[in-house]
Amino acid sequence: MNIQRKFRMKARLLLFLGAFLLGVRVVSGPVQPLGRQESIPLAPKTVYLTFDDGPSRNTEAILKVLEEEGVQATFFVTLRDREEFPDAYQAIADQGHTLALHCSQHDYSRLYQNSHTYRKDLGQLTAALDQMGVPYEKLVRLPGGSLNQEASPRTLEAILRQLNQDGYSCFDWNVSSGDDGEDGSPLPIPAEEIAERVARRSEGLLTPVVLLHDSYPFSTTPEATRQIIRHFKEEGYSFDVLTSESRPILFFSLWEQMTQR
Ligand SMILES: [Zn+2]
Repeated sequence: MNIQRKFRMKARLLLFLGAFLLGVRVVSGPVQPLGRQESIPLAPKTVYLTFDDGPSRNTEAILKVLEEEGVQATFFVTLRDREEFPDAYQAIADQGHTLALHCSQHDYSRLYQNSHTYRKDLGQLTAALDQMGVPYEKLVRLPGGSLNQEASPRTLEAILRQLNQDGYSCFDWNVSSGDDGEDGSPLPIPAEEIAERVARRSEGLLTPVVLLHDSYPFSTTPEATRQIIRHFKEEGYSFDVLTSESRPILFFSLWEQMTQR
Protein backbone atom coordinates (compact mmCIF):
# COMPACT_ATOMS: atom_id res chain seq x y z
CA MET A 1 0.00 0.00 0.00
CA ASN A 2 1.49 3.36 -0.92
CA ILE A 3 1.92 6.06 1.72
CA GLN A 4 -0.71 8.40 0.27
CA ARG A 5 -3.39 5.70 0.27
CA LYS A 6 -2.43 4.65 3.77
CA PHE A 7 -2.74 8.24 4.95
CA ARG A 8 -6.15 8.63 3.24
CA MET A 9 -7.43 5.47 4.89
CA LYS A 10 -6.17 6.58 8.28
CA ALA A 11 -7.74 10.02 7.89
CA ARG A 12 -11.05 8.47 6.82
CA LEU A 13 -10.98 6.11 9.79
CA LEU A 14 -10.37 8.96 12.23
CA LEU A 15 -13.12 11.05 10.64
CA PHE A 16 -15.59 8.16 10.84
CA LEU A 17 -14.79 7.38 14.44
CA GLY A 18 -14.80 11.02 15.48
CA ALA A 19 -18.17 11.59 13.85
CA PHE A 20 -19.65 8.44 15.30
CA LEU A 21 -18.43 9.11 18.82
CA LEU A 22 -19.91 12.59 18.62
CA GLY A 23 -23.24 11.05 17.81
CA VAL A 24 -23.49 11.79 14.12
CA ARG A 25 -24.98 9.04 12.01
CA VAL A 26 -22.38 7.59 9.68
CA VAL A 27 -23.90 4.20 8.93
CA SER A 28 -27.44 3.50 7.83
CA GLY A 29 -28.01 0.31 9.78
CA PRO A 30 -27.16 -1.23 13.12
CA VAL A 31 -23.83 -2.98 13.44
CA GLN A 32 -23.84 -6.69 14.16
CA PRO A 33 -22.40 -7.53 17.53
CA LEU A 34 -19.50 -9.89 17.90
CA GLY A 35 -20.70 -13.45 17.41
CA ARG A 36 -24.31 -12.62 18.11
CA GLN A 37 -26.47 -12.84 15.01
CA GLU A 38 -29.91 -13.52 16.45
CA SER A 39 -30.90 -10.16 17.79
CA ILE A 40 -33.99 -8.01 17.45
CA PRO A 41 -33.59 -4.82 15.36
CA LEU A 42 -34.49 -1.55 17.06
CA ALA A 43 -37.98 -0.35 16.16
CA PRO A 44 -38.10 2.45 13.58
CA LYS A 45 -39.09 5.95 14.70
CA THR A 46 -38.36 4.96 18.29
CA VAL A 47 -36.13 6.70 20.82
CA TYR A 48 -34.06 4.80 23.35
CA LEU A 49 -33.07 7.07 26.24
CA THR A 50 -30.09 5.70 28.18
CA PHE A 51 -28.63 6.94 31.47
CA ASP A 52 -25.08 6.04 32.50
CA ASP A 53 -23.02 6.28 35.69
CA GLY A 54 -25.82 6.48 38.27
CA PRO A 55 -27.69 6.01 40.36
CA SER A 56 -27.07 9.18 42.32
CA ARG A 57 -29.10 11.94 43.93
CA ASN A 58 -30.13 12.99 40.39
CA THR A 59 -31.76 9.66 39.58
CA GLU A 60 -34.88 10.32 41.63
CA ALA A 61 -35.64 13.51 39.66
CA ILE A 62 -35.07 11.69 36.36
CA LEU A 63 -37.38 8.85 37.38
CA LYS A 64 -40.04 11.42 38.26
CA VAL A 65 -39.76 13.09 34.84
CA LEU A 66 -39.98 9.71 33.08
CA GLU A 67 -43.04 8.78 35.13
CA GLU A 68 -44.78 12.10 34.46
CA GLU A 69 -44.08 11.81 30.74
CA GLY A 70 -45.05 8.12 30.61
CA VAL A 71 -41.70 7.10 29.10
CA GLN A 72 -39.43 4.12 29.82
CA ALA A 73 -35.66 4.24 29.60
CA THR A 74 -32.52 2.16 30.12
CA PHE A 75 -30.15 2.72 33.05
CA PHE A 76 -26.55 1.46 32.85
CA VAL A 77 -25.79 1.47 36.55
CA THR A 78 -22.71 1.59 38.76
CA LEU A 79 -22.17 1.23 42.51
CA ARG A 80 -20.09 4.41 42.76
CA ASP A 81 -22.67 6.73 44.34
CA ARG A 82 -25.13 4.15 45.59
CA GLU A 83 -25.30 5.75 49.04
CA GLU A 84 -26.88 8.87 47.54
CA PHE A 85 -30.02 6.94 46.59
CA PRO A 86 -29.78 3.31 47.75
CA ASP A 87 -33.35 2.45 46.70
CA ALA A 88 -32.73 3.59 43.13
CA TYR A 89 -31.96 0.13 41.73
CA GLN A 90 -35.28 -1.25 42.91
CA ALA A 91 -37.12 1.94 41.89
CA ILE A 92 -35.71 1.71 38.34
CA ALA A 93 -36.88 -1.90 38.03
CA ASP A 94 -40.25 -1.24 39.70
CA GLN A 95 -41.06 1.53 37.22
CA GLY A 96 -40.52 -0.81 34.27
CA HIS A 97 -37.23 0.62 33.06
CA THR A 98 -34.37 -1.61 31.99
CA LEU A 99 -31.71 -1.95 34.64
CA ALA A 100 -28.52 -2.69 32.72
CA LEU A 101 -24.85 -2.82 33.68
CA HIS A 102 -22.02 -0.30 33.40
CA CYS A 103 -19.37 -1.05 36.03
CA SER A 104 -18.82 -1.07 39.75
CA GLN A 105 -16.54 1.91 40.44
CA HIS A 106 -15.84 3.65 37.10
CA ASP A 107 -12.11 3.85 37.74
CA TYR A 108 -10.61 3.63 34.24
CA SER A 109 -7.08 2.85 35.43
CA ARG A 110 -8.36 -0.19 37.33
CA LEU A 111 -11.07 -1.25 34.88
CA TYR A 112 -8.94 -1.56 31.78
CA GLN A 113 -5.64 -2.89 33.14
CA ASN A 114 -6.23 -6.07 31.16
CA SER A 115 -9.06 -8.22 29.88
CA HIS A 116 -9.76 -9.68 33.33
CA THR A 117 -10.03 -6.50 35.38
CA TYR A 118 -13.27 -5.29 33.79
CA ARG A 119 -14.81 -8.73 34.23
CA LYS A 120 -13.88 -8.69 37.90
CA ASP A 121 -15.36 -5.20 38.37
CA LEU A 122 -18.56 -6.21 36.54
CA GLY A 123 -18.78 -9.27 38.79
CA GLN A 124 -18.81 -6.98 41.84
CA LEU A 125 -21.73 -5.06 40.35
CA THR A 126 -23.80 -8.14 39.50
CA ALA A 127 -23.04 -9.65 42.94
CA ALA A 128 -24.34 -6.49 44.62
CA LEU A 129 -27.49 -6.48 42.47
CA ASP A 130 -28.05 -10.18 43.16
CA GLN A 131 -27.70 -9.49 46.84
CA MET A 132 -30.29 -6.70 46.57
CA GLY A 133 -32.54 -9.06 44.64
CA VAL A 134 -32.98 -6.52 41.84
CA PRO A 135 -33.61 -7.93 38.35
CA TYR A 136 -31.26 -6.76 35.61
CA GLU A 137 -30.63 -7.41 31.93
CA LYS A 138 -27.43 -9.12 30.80
CA LEU A 139 -26.76 -5.95 28.87
CA VAL A 140 -23.56 -3.95 29.29
CA ARG A 141 -22.30 -0.55 28.25
CA LEU A 142 -18.54 -0.32 28.60
CA PRO A 143 -17.30 2.85 30.34
CA GLY A 144 -16.19 5.19 27.56
CA GLY A 145 -17.91 2.97 24.97
CA SER A 146 -16.64 -0.18 23.27
CA LEU A 147 -13.91 1.82 21.52
CA ASN A 148 -12.25 4.35 23.79
CA GLN A 149 -8.95 6.00 24.59
CA GLU A 150 -8.66 4.44 28.03
CA ALA A 151 -7.97 0.92 26.76
CA SER A 152 -6.15 -0.58 23.79
CA PRO A 153 -8.23 -2.14 20.99
CA ARG A 154 -6.62 -5.45 21.92
CA THR A 155 -7.86 -5.23 25.51
CA LEU A 156 -11.30 -4.06 24.40
CA GLU A 157 -11.57 -6.91 21.93
CA ALA A 158 -10.66 -9.40 24.67
CA ILE A 159 -13.26 -7.85 27.00
CA LEU A 160 -15.97 -7.97 24.32
CA ARG A 161 -15.21 -11.59 23.49
CA GLN A 162 -15.30 -12.49 27.17
CA LEU A 163 -18.62 -10.68 27.65
CA ASN A 164 -20.00 -12.53 24.66
CA GLN A 165 -18.86 -15.87 26.06
CA ASP A 166 -20.46 -15.01 29.40
CA GLY A 167 -23.76 -14.29 27.64
CA TYR A 168 -23.73 -10.51 27.87
CA SER A 169 -24.71 -8.16 25.09
CA CYS A 170 -22.87 -4.84 24.75
CA PHE A 171 -24.43 -1.56 23.57
CA ASP A 172 -23.03 1.88 22.68
CA TRP A 173 -25.07 4.90 21.49
CA ASN A 174 -25.57 7.04 18.39
CA VAL A 175 -26.53 10.39 19.96
CA SER A 176 -24.34 11.87 22.68
CA SER A 177 -26.18 14.53 24.69
CA GLY A 178 -22.96 16.07 26.02
CA ASP A 179 -24.65 16.61 29.40
CA ASP A 180 -21.31 15.72 31.01
CA GLY A 181 -19.55 18.65 29.35
CA GLU A 182 -17.85 16.88 26.45
CA ASP A 183 -16.34 20.12 25.12
CA GLY A 184 -14.98 21.25 28.48
CA SER A 185 -17.86 23.70 29.10
CA PRO A 186 -18.48 24.56 32.75
CA LEU A 187 -20.95 22.27 34.51
CA PRO A 188 -23.81 21.95 34.67
CA ILE A 189 -24.65 22.52 31.00
CA PRO A 190 -27.97 24.43 30.64
CA ALA A 191 -30.86 22.03 30.03
CA GLU A 192 -31.89 23.88 26.84
CA GLU A 193 -28.41 23.45 25.41
CA ILE A 194 -28.43 19.70 26.08
CA ALA A 195 -31.91 19.29 24.57
CA GLU A 196 -31.03 21.35 21.48
CA ARG A 197 -27.90 19.30 20.92
CA VAL A 198 -29.83 16.03 21.12
CA ALA A 199 -32.44 17.38 18.68
CA ARG A 200 -29.73 18.45 16.23
CA ARG A 201 -27.73 15.24 16.46
CA SER A 202 -30.74 12.96 16.08
CA GLU A 203 -32.09 14.73 13.01
CA GLY A 204 -33.05 12.10 10.43
CA LEU A 205 -32.25 9.18 12.72
CA LEU A 206 -34.81 6.38 12.83
CA THR A 207 -33.59 4.92 16.11
CA PRO A 208 -31.83 7.50 18.27
CA VAL A 209 -30.06 5.86 21.21
CA VAL A 210 -29.37 8.87 23.41
CA LEU A 211 -26.51 8.94 25.91
CA LEU A 212 -27.34 10.87 29.10
CA HIS A 213 -25.97 10.65 32.65
CA ASP A 214 -27.90 10.35 35.91
CA SER A 215 -24.80 10.92 38.02
CA TYR A 216 -23.97 13.99 40.06
CA PRO A 217 -23.04 16.83 39.27
CA PHE A 218 -25.01 16.84 36.02
CA SER A 219 -27.96 18.41 37.78
CA THR A 220 -29.65 19.83 34.66
CA THR A 221 -30.12 16.40 33.09
CA PRO A 222 -33.60 15.82 34.64
CA GLU A 223 -34.95 19.03 33.07
CA ALA A 224 -33.09 18.33 29.82
CA THR A 225 -34.69 14.87 29.78
CA ARG A 226 -38.14 16.44 29.93
CA GLN A 227 -37.34 18.76 27.03
CA ILE A 228 -35.81 15.92 25.01
CA ILE A 229 -38.91 13.76 25.54
CA ARG A 230 -41.24 16.58 24.49
CA HIS A 231 -39.18 17.24 21.38
CA PHE A 232 -39.34 13.61 20.27
CA LYS A 233 -43.07 13.41 21.06
CA GLU A 234 -43.66 16.44 18.82
CA GLU A 235 -41.68 14.69 16.09
CA GLY A 236 -43.95 11.62 16.38
CA TYR A 237 -41.43 9.22 17.96
CA SER A 238 -42.28 6.39 20.36
CA PHE A 239 -40.04 5.39 23.28
CA ASP A 240 -38.75 2.00 24.28
CA VAL A 241 -36.13 0.27 26.43
CA LEU A 242 -33.09 -1.72 25.34
CA THR A 243 -32.80 -5.37 26.32
CA SER A 244 -30.09 -7.98 25.96
CA GLU A 245 -31.90 -9.07 22.78
CA SER A 246 -31.72 -5.65 21.10
CA ARG A 247 -29.40 -5.57 18.09
CA PRO A 248 -26.54 -3.42 19.35
CA ILE A 249 -24.84 -0.36 18.07
CA LEU A 250 -21.23 -1.26 18.71
CA PHE A 251 -18.36 1.11 17.90
CA PHE A 252 -15.89 -1.75 18.07
CA SER A 253 -17.66 -3.76 15.35
CA LEU A 254 -17.73 -0.67 13.15
CA TRP A 255 -14.01 -0.22 13.68
CA GLU A 256 -13.42 -3.92 12.93
CA GLN A 257 -15.32 -3.61 9.67
CA MET A 258 -13.50 -0.46 8.61
CA THR A 259 -10.09 -1.85 9.33
CA GLN A 260 -11.10 -5.22 7.81
CA ARG A 261 -9.54 -7.15 10.63
ZN1 LIG B 1 -19.63 5.94 32.33
